[in-house]
Amino acid sequence: MERYVYDFDEPTEGGRDLLGGKGIGLAEMRQLGVPVPAGFTITTDACRAYMASGGQFPAGLEAEIDEHLARLEETTGKRFGDPDDPLLVSVRSGAAVSMPGMMDTILNVGLNDAAVEGLARRTGNDRFARDSYRRLIQMYGETVDHIEPHRFSDALGKQGDDLPGLIETFKSIYAEETGHSFPQDAKEQLGRAVRAVFESWDTPRAKAYRRHNHIPDDLGTAVNVVQMVFGNKGEHSGTGVAFTRDPSTGEAGLYGEFLADAQGEDVVAGIRTPEPVESMRERLPAAFDELIETMRRLEEHYKDMQDIEFTVEDGKLYLLQTRSAKRTAAAALKAAVAMVDEGLIAREEAVARIDPGQLDQLLHPRIDPDVTYVVAAKGLNASPGAASGQIVFDADTAEDRGRDGVSVILVRWETTPDDIHGMIAAQGILTAHGGMTSHAAVVARGMGKPCVAGCEALSLDLDARTASLNGTRLNEGDVITIDGGTGEVIVGEVTLIPPDINEDFETVLGWADDLRRLKVRANADTPEDAAKAREFGAQGIGLCRTEHMFMADDRLPVVRDMIMASDEDERRAALDKLLPHQQSDFEGIFEAMAGLPVTIRLLDPPLHEFLPPLEEARDDRMRSRIRALQEANPMLGTRGCRLGLQFPEIYEMQVRAIIGAASAVRDRTGDAPLVEIMHPLVGFQEELRRLRDLTVATAEEESDVEYLVGTMIELPRACIRADEIAEQADFFSFGTNDLTQTALGFSRDDAEGKFLTHYLQDGVLERNPFETLDQSGVGELMAIAVERGRRTKPDIKLGICGEHGGEPDSVKFCHALGLDYVSCSPYRVPLARLAAAQAALAEAGVEAVSVGG
Ligand code: ADP
Ligand code: MG
Ligand code: MG
Repeated sequence: MERYVYDFDEPTEGGRDLLGGKGIGLAEMRQLGVPVPAGFTITTDACRAYMASGGQFPAGLEAEIDEHLARLEETTGKRFGDPDDPLLVSVRSGAAVSMPGMMDTILNVGLNDAAVEGLARRTGNDRFARDSYRRLIQMYGETVDHIEPHRFSDALGKQGDDLPGLIETFKSIYAEETGHSFPQDAKEQLGRAVRAVFESWDTPRAKAYRRHNHIPDDLGTAVNVVQMVFGNKGEHSGTGVAFTRDPSTGEAGLYGEFLADAQGEDVVAGIRTPEPVESMRERLPAAFDELIETMRRLEEHYKDMQDIEFTVEDGKLYLLQTRSAKRTAAAALKAAVAMVDEGLIAREEAVARIDPGQLDQLLHPRIDPDVTYVVAAKGLNASPGAASGQIVFDADTAEDRGRDGVSVILVRWETTPDDIHGMIAAQGILTAHGGMTSHAAVVARGMGKPCVAGCEALSLDLDARTASLNGTRLNEGDVITIDGGTGEVIVGEVTLIPPDINEDFETVLGWADDLRRLKVRANADTPEDAAKAREFGAQGIGLCRTEHMFMADDRLPVVRDMIMASDEDERRAALDKLLPHQQSDFEGIFEAMAGLPVTIRLLDPPLHEFLPPLEEARDDRMRSRIRALQEANPMLGTRGCRLGLQFPEIYEMQVRAIIGAASAVRDRTGDAPLVEIMHPLVGFQEELRRLRDLTVATAEEESDVEYLVGTMIELPRACIRADEIAEQADFFSFGTNDLTQTALGFSRDDAEGKFLTHYLQDGVLERNPFETLDQSGVGELMAIAVERGRRTKPDIKLGICGEHGGEPDSVKFCHALGLDYVSCSPYRVPLARLAAAQAALAEAGVEAVSVGG
């Protein structure tokens, strides 16, 4: 028969997937000899069986729990439900993938009216026993019976220290809300607590979190039943969290918070402000020394920065959790570089371990150091980066306004897991309460969003929807700026500037460059972008769009003249005026990319995009031209190479400008740029054959510089007939934005924010195919094109220039396809360099250690 329960010291094969992150951590700590309370783990298999059956314990589970409970009683010398000296346990959720604060935990299970007296007598600590009982009723009521938390917290606020009174009040709240009295049977408490934890896997907030983090819905959670240790026994007790290195900066050294005479969630809840963990040194020297030693051992064992939870009961230390610490990207890089220096890990592991998606954080804006501004208040620098936006006071409003494209800063007393959707929508988060390990801080760091926490000068009046910041009154909708790197809060907007790459980042990227095969280029349309891209390590330009050169203010009128021309001669006259502009743009780009390849795409969008809206037409002739050019579906109309074939003089001018620029730059610098001329939207070999002829003939007239002619592959037909098209092409560049549109039959503008949003919400699709390449559909078409294209021309150059080129999973896919390069926006180049190295490492069997807990 299948087994569902394992003691912490029993070996299993199932690992993290079976025991969850918390369970595996407890088991491993026990094996290491770290002081951990005794207990057992109910597996994720049990949870999956429970969910699949619609809420039934699988056969045998109950008996297995009883058996392990009996063993726990034996180990601890206490009995569960004993009125005299009760065994108490916590019932803790813990999935294989870390979902901090998303699911439920209940402490002090096993207490009842009689046992609380026994506990008080045994410990000689009446206050402690009753405090534990009221916590149980509260957590159990909230978690098992879904009683609104404010029912209890309101009473707590009113009655404060009168514990016997509070217990009575809590029990009557419980009875009032549920229609039955608080269960006195310890086994019943345990059974229902386990069910509640199973069910917490499917709460809306847990689902929202999983959707945001692309965690599958069918993993389920494990449940850990752990003997209680008590941090709420007085001044020689307490609870804390600590990191082996600073999770914001990665700096080595102890980092954490401690709250004396407290239990469980008190630190995280942000209700009382904790002290630095250093404060234990004097008060609890033995426990402190053991903590330091234990953290060192854990880091050495896991070879990674750890985030631990601990409790001290009467001077004795216990660890309750360890996991790879959530950290900012800056901290991840610094810690990885330091660990390589310390000999703890190899370079490959350091590279494999950094989450490329997270690097985005470092590529976030910060406040321009050259501007002066007035700091209205300071809080804790809980998550780096700067953001400006309108303040909103609740998560729903944040989501609403965020959806309308407004930048918002979510401002709260403190955040809870129920605020998650608002945090996702906000540009930044500001809280009045809570420390560096408060919910807001932890979640913001995970999301890579700026967060200032514990800003004491902030107070909120949620009814009036106003805030007071150091005495300045703010209304909802007023703009503020926060800097999560310094903790500064500023009223109004401040200039933000783009980031640059620090030394640790540079070091890790250097290692990545040594390990990757895939080249990384950038999509850049201007000399400035090209220079930025190069600074970020781009090895060329994979896509230079020429249309913006047509859009510039001083050129648009000429472009319009070109479009309005009544015959070819008139059109050529206008094009002649555009030519020098285009040529000088290209010269700038070639110079910025000297020695590196530059792919230039000839004009792609339909011409009507260059004309004003109908109402603004200057005369009847223009109006009729606009009508003639208007398309019902411009995505599939006269654009790309179709435009070039209908108006060859446009492409001729562009080829002339490109070749002219290349030869001018060669003459000036002695170095010929590596030019790749790309024809968009080709579906038929004949299209490219004609355009290749046009390109070659025009170029020959201009100069003898070398160049390649290729095409963007962005139509399903082009993928399928890639063997024929390759006869005319020196290179293919997958335009996966359009390829996604045409392969899926999704017009992007009609999809995002519309049906696609529903698809993602309802789980019809797991990922937005415009963000993450649809590998099994679009990816399969690419694979066909690669195979057929190479069959005709084994050395054909292959790249991708859609936005997917900067998305880590898609980069890995492109590596597997054997492309020569990916091309993405300049800011994503570093991330693509890392992802490309990870793809190569994965192929060689070096995978990232999974971070969880
Ligand atoms: P989360 O995943 O939200 O951190 P946990 O299961 O880790 O939930 O527990 C919540 C809090 O209760 C933590 O601070 C944890 O250290 C504490 N806790 C859990 N089990 C015990 C126990 N057996 N004794 C003392 N404290 C506990
Ligand atoms: Mg925990
Ligand atoms: Mg396209």
